[in-house]
Amino acid sequence: MEHFDIVIAGGGPAGLTAAIYARRAGRSVLLLEKEGFGGQIASSPRVENFPGLMSVSGAELADRLYDQAEALGARLELEEVLEVRDGPCKTVITDYGAYTCSALILATGMKHRTLGLPGEDAMTGISFCAVCDGSFYQGKDVAVCGGGNTALQDALFLADLCRQVTVIHRRGAFRGDPVLVRALQQRANVSFAMDTVVTALLGGDALTGLSLRNTVTGMESSLAVSGLFEAVGQLPETTLSALLTPVDADGFIPCGEDCVTPAAGVFAAGDCRAKGVRQLTTACADGAVAALAACNYCKYV
Ligand code: NAP
Repeated sequence: MEHFDIVIAGGGPAGLTAAIYARRAGRSVLLLEKEGFGGQIASSPRVENFPGLMSVSGAELADRLYDQAEALGARLELEEVLEVRDGPCKTVITDYGAYTCSALILATGMKHRTLGLPGEDAMTGISFCAVCDGSFYQGKDVAVCGGGNTALQDALFLADLCRQVTVIHRRGAFRGDPVLVRALQQRANVSFAMDTVVTALLGGDALTGLSLRNTVTGMESSLAVSGLFEAVGQLPETTLSALLTPVDADGFIPCGEDCVTPAAGVFAAGDCRAKGVRQLTTACADGAVAALAACNYCKYV
């Protein structure tokens, strides 16, 4: 079985940064990612708050992180970690094979929260990624549900492609950055349904509209759309972590800023860790901290 000093589960900014730091410290590194390198940032239309880069697409930033980790000699594989067996060395079982390692970094990130409406899984017309699916709705009417930065950025991106974009938010004030709200307010083809929730998805196999309810007035209405982009936040992706180390009531790994978990040789980095600020910069910071802690751990194994 192939052995690595450090195995990293998760190929988002936290995992890729950990790979960069661990390779620069001279450790052998295997990074395993189950879906796509770059994590959720890869589907962000534009990143404008990463220091030193005025504006970059999420996909380009993800590519740059990947290239940097690979150029430094990290091995990067698209494999899902299914199980980790503890022992003098940890055995990491994936859907393609098995590896051993001295230290493991969990950088498994978050997954999309859904609205939990009937038909959501099966119907075409429901998307969680404006960058990936926006072009299918060129010239059509769509809605974005959510009030955070993802929803606001998705709406801005879709406003360039679609005939009409309706932003549906359950409260009267947005959670996302005012700069994005102002940019949306200037778009002629963007309208807002505030204090509003989606109560049903209309249509058969394909979405044709939404039933809405105003939470203040109680008024029910419907909105004809061919696409609904759900951007209602994320939940931690910690199914694997829960097998190794305790997770808190919300599913996050409760380790401190040192990224050290109670399980020997297991470290946590990025959005899957319990913390106050989940940003690209803090994910990268975690990646560096976890990698250096893991490198230090390897000296004594
Ligand atoms: P978020 O900030 O958690 O926002 C989720 C939004 O969905 C909130 O407005 C929330 O409403 C709403 N929501 C949650 N559950 C809902 C439900 N069941 N029904 C209807 N609405 C629901 O998530 P996010 O926008 O994905 O952002 C995640 C993190 O990434 C944030 O820290 C964000 O700042 C960051 N991010 C940053 C950028 C950037 O460019 N700076 C871009 C994207 C994301 P309430 O407001 O009422 O809770």
